[in-house]
Amino acid sequence: MIDLRSDTVTRPTEAMRAAMATADVGDDVYGEDPTVTALEQQAAGLFGHEAALFTVTGSLANLLAIRSLVPVGAEVLCEAQAHIVRAELGGQAAVNGITMRTWSDPRGLVDLQQLGDLVAPDLGPFLVRTAAISAENTHNFGGGSVQPIDVLRGLRSLADAHGLTVHLDGARLWNAAVATGVPLPEYGDVADVMTVALSKGLGAPVGSLLLGSGECIRQAREWRKRLGGGWRQAGVLAAAGLYALEHHVERLADDHAHARLLAEACAVDPGDVDTNIIVVPCADAATVVAAAADEGVLCSAVGRRSLRLVTHLDVSATDARRAAGVLARLLARWR
Ligand SMILES: *Cc1c(COP(=O)(O)O)cnc(C)c1O
Repeated sequence: MIDLRSDTVTRPTEAMRAAMATADVGDDVYGEDPTVTALEQQAAGLFGHEAALFTVTGSLANLLAIRSLVPVGAEVLCEAQAHIVRAELGGQAAVNGITMRTWSDPRGLVDLQQLGDLVAPDLGPFLVRTAAISAENTHNFGGGSVQPIDVLRGLRSLADAHGLTVHLDGARLWNAAVATGVPLPEYGDVADVMTVALSKGLGAPVGSLLLGSGECIRQAREWRKRLGGGWRQAGVLAAAGLYALEHHVERLADDHAHARLLAEACAVDPGDVDTNIIVVPCADAATVVAAAADEGVLCSAVGRRSLRLVTHLDVSATDARRAAGVLARLLARWR
């Protein structure tokens, strides 16, 4: 099976497993796991943030991030298809007690005009108060789209002008950095608090990181424990993350090349494929998904009229070419 449903389906490589098996570990709730600490310090350094916290999921990292920026009853502004508003099962409301208002863009991009109209830091004691702005880079449901760094800087200035803070959901920020060549600290600069995933394109089995100030991370560490996310010898997982940072970042360029190849076969405008996600319009997505599975290619239907393909570490160039052939043939019938 060639699995194009998501970049979360990767399995740890032999070399990554070896790094996990030989990791130095300790009790991370006591702050005594040297491998977890090394991962947190390295990640914070990469983005120019003071500190980092290793978490079991990106959803937990985003919960802790928004909690640190938005008081109960206040709001965060984000795009209408953002992961924090659509794919975390209402966790931000259920756990953090905050609200959201959204701007909308077909590719999930930051629209400074719409954003400027939404910002409401203090309209008196009758209207919800904006506390933070969140941007997702790359944007998952936007088709792996990259937020241009100039626009992110514009968002930062807008936030500063209104006394707001900025959250960056960077689950796939690695893909954005590799696709654009923008250095990681420049992304780090625009965010007060940010999250990055190790378990997507980087191919680690588990884990995300929350990055921010020392004080923010100190409080997030308490809340992580309070929510049941404190862990003990997590160094076996952090070792996979450290391995991924060393070996699996630059190679994301291969995933992007495979995505372009698939886009071409599926007659998708290459201008709509910035990184490793391809959204393919088609008449009957469920039928194409089933027919592709019969031919050994797994992809997902997003709604009734589009397919989603994601390239990753476990899809070789040969796999990508074979999947492209299968999908081109099926789409010719069901376009
Ligand atoms: C996957 C993802 C997350 C976190 O997902 P988990 O499955 O909880 O690790 C957060 N944001 C974006 C944009 C994602 O794609």
